[in-house]
Amino acid sequence: MCAPEVQITISLARNAPEAAMKLVRYAALYLLAALVAVLFADGVRTSAAPPASNFVLVAHCGAGDYSKAPAAYIQPRRDALAVAIRQGYKILAAGGASLDAVETTIRSMEDSGLFDAGRGAYYTRAGVPEMDAAIMDGQTLAAGSVACLQHIANPIHLARLVMEKTPHVMLVGAGAEEFAKSQGIELVSPFYFYNEQLWLRYKLAKSAEQKKSGALKLDSNDEHGTVGVVALDQQGNLAAGTSTGGTVLKMPGRVGDSPIIGAGTYANNESCGVSATGTGEFFMRNIVAADICERVRYLHISVEQAANDVVMKELMDQKGDGGVIALDRQGNVTTPFNTTGMMTGTVHLDGNISLKGWSKTAEPIIVSASQ
Ligand code: ASP
Repeated sequence: MCAPEVQITISLARNAPEAAMKLVRYAALYLLAALVAVLFADGVRTSAAPPASNFVLVAHCGAGDYSKAPAAYIQPRRDALAVAIRQGYKILAAGGASLDAVETTIRSMEDSGLFDAGRGAYYTRAGVPEMDAAIMDGQTLAAGSVACLQHIANPIHLARLVMEKTPHVMLVGAGAEEFAKSQGIELVSPFYFYNEQLWLRYKLAKSAEQKKSGALKLDSNDEHGTVGVVALDQQGNLAAGTSTGGTVLKMPGRVGDSPIIGAGTYANNESCGVSATGTGEFFMRNIVAADICERVRYLHISVEQAANDVVMKELMDQKGDGGVIALDRQGNVTTPFNTTGMMTGTVHLDGNISLKGWSKTAEPIIVSASQ
């Protein structure tokens, strides 16, 4: 469109005097530059924007039996899971780090009061919650964990601070809470964790225990509510985190698998990231999270096969109930569980959150991440 104009300008200029020639040359150059600019701009507008790198986030909110749970129990938990995943998705979509996405997603679930983590943490036999959490960076293998916390609203945040601000991997009990204070974290009263339903459950379990002469035997398949997240960011880095109040009526001082690096939580860019849920003692004895990752690393099998072999064979043979979420660097996700249910949500860069696992047969529900 502009090329004939350039030719006319140049041919007129041939017979002009010296000064006019200069002017015409500038005009021609200007026109050529404009032509190039228009063509370039057109090219930018019409060619598709480069696709964003792959990123994935997968979260769970506990393994157990939802089969007898009414919709009024399942629905708010599924909604809270989606709300949390949306926050992690936003971070990943903006190019943020998987560690930030993991921490933010877990914090949201801790704050909801609907899960066995943070505000909704189950009570120990002493009638107060004791919480555990861990986070791990798959790029550097840096890890932080905390256990036996009684006054911390967001254990996952404290685990992250242990990782980033101390030379240690794990802090527990009073020492961990002292460290929290030194980092400006306010200690909350046990009433922060009070919730009528949890209290009734605690009283029922206690009276059931008193009626029996032997040790308390709980149906562990009923327990669910631990939360965990694994994420892969656009830079290709994996991170994993888990937060829990542990098992129902656990003994004070009992620590489960969730904060044990390699048992309930693990991430390594060389293999995969894992967060587990279930009766922690089995996951500790079988170093489940690390075992899955190392099978991927040394046996060169898929993350799906590795997780399946560990959860559906090794653990089941020992009657170890629970499940895992696992994600590799290529974005492959797997969520095997040997309980009746394990609620999970997964989101990729397309922004569709797929929620499933409250029953083995229920179809996944898809909700948008951009609400
Ligand atoms: N694994 C947790 C623990 O044993 C409990 C759970 O995931 O339900 O502390």
